[in-house]
Amino acid sequence: MSLPEFKLLRPRSLEAAIGYLGEHAGNLRVLAGGTDLIPSMRQKLFEPEYVLDLRGIAAMRGITLQPDGGVEIGALTTLRAIERSDFLREHYAVLTEAAATVASPVLRNMGTIGGNICLDTRCLWYNQSLTWRKGCGFCIKKDGDLCHVAPGGSKCWAVFSGDTPPALLCLNAEIEIVSASGMRRIPLRDFYTGLGDDYRRLQTNELVTRVFLPASAADYHGVYRKLRVRGSIDYPLAGVAVVMKRSNGHVADARVGITAVNPAPLLVKGVDELLTGMAIDDALAEAVGNLAARTAKPLTTSALTPEYRRELIRVFTKRAVLAAAGNLIFFRA
Ligand SMILES: Cc1cc2nc3c(=O)[nH]c(=O)nc-3n(C[C@H](O)[C@H](O)[C@H](O)COP(=O)(O)OP(=O)(O)OC[C@H]3O[C@@H](n4cnc5c(N)ncnc54)[C@H](O)[C@@H]3O)c2cc1C
Ligand code: SF4
Repeated sequence: MSLPEFKLLRPRSLEAAIGYLGEHAGNLRVLAGGTDLIPSMRQKLFEPEYVLDLRGIAAMRGITLQPDGGVEIGALTTLRAIERSDFLREHYAVLTEAAATVASPVLRNMGTIGGNICLDTRCLWYNQSLTWRKGCGFCIKKDGDLCHVAPGGSKCWAVFSGDTPPALLCLNAEIEIVSASGMRRIPLRDFYTGLGDDYRRLQTNELVTRVFLPASAADYHGVYRKLRVRGSIDYPLAGVAVVMKRSNGHVADARVGITAVNPAPLLVKGVDELLTGMAIDDALAEAVGNLAARTAKPLTTSALTPEYRRELIRVFTKRAVLAAAGNLIFFRA
């Protein structure tokens, strides 16, 4: 599949990039690593007149320790750099674990944390060639007016399939968004809409520039578990991140994030209430698994059945909770 024609813009500074965004908003796509954008353009999911290649902006790259003990990660920092950061592995282990499961080493060398956060939602009926989609009469997410997954409805259920966002949600991460009108910093949990088509709160003239991890989220035990068809490369079909802080053998704080089973990555509600002050055992881990499975709403958007993906959310959550509590060390999915 060939790429559609486009004009390539290669700014060397954030200011220049913001200028281009303002000038061509609506007719432009942002390229970071390009590992998701380029295949999507080949499938003619996007045919922008301009592609804004951010890779020349050095200021948007790097992992920097903040005076308050938190960490700032530039949006262009590669997943490989995150996976290999000794500092992040020591203090924010759930993030390095999740980053290390994305795609394959080659794609992690190119793919960025900003691109992973902004990743388009996916569906069996959408991530296909133009000819394939045309043969099915298109769908709500692009060029059509019906949903093959939930016929009769008007909502798109395409699923968010990034690995690092559930880990970032568990770490209470914030992101910085910049446009010509200024800068805003928001909790990552407010970034996603929960819709499969218009899935993120980002205007066409805005860029995600930085990710912030608070000092208060450092040094938690962190675990990420993921279901995929091919262990060497695939997107998640279900993913679970768990962070936990313990004191005297009891849980002081815990969070669980899930991905690839809803149109947005989500924090599971009620985990803290269930676990705080408790010593983790099998039954408690199972109860958290049940909470996570109730939060997951998979539909037939991917190769495996919704029932199997929901069940694996339950099982992986239970295992991840036990592993984060130190009760089960070597159970890797
Ligand atoms: C075979 C294959 C397997 C994959 N497996 C996985 C997987 O297992 N897990 C996973 O999470 N992903 C997977 N991916 C998707 C992709 O490789 C990663 O999500 C990667 O992190 C995307 O980052 P990128 O920099 O390449 O994004 P790009 O492709 O450059 O961009 C992705 C999207 O984000 C937007 N964007 C990028 N950066 C910014 C920014 N700073 N501000 C605003 N918008 C921005 C782009 O416009 C585009 O819409 C896979 C891709 C392929 C081809
Ligand atoms: S969930 Fe429905 S509308 Fe959305 S991409 Fe899939 S088929 Fe299209």
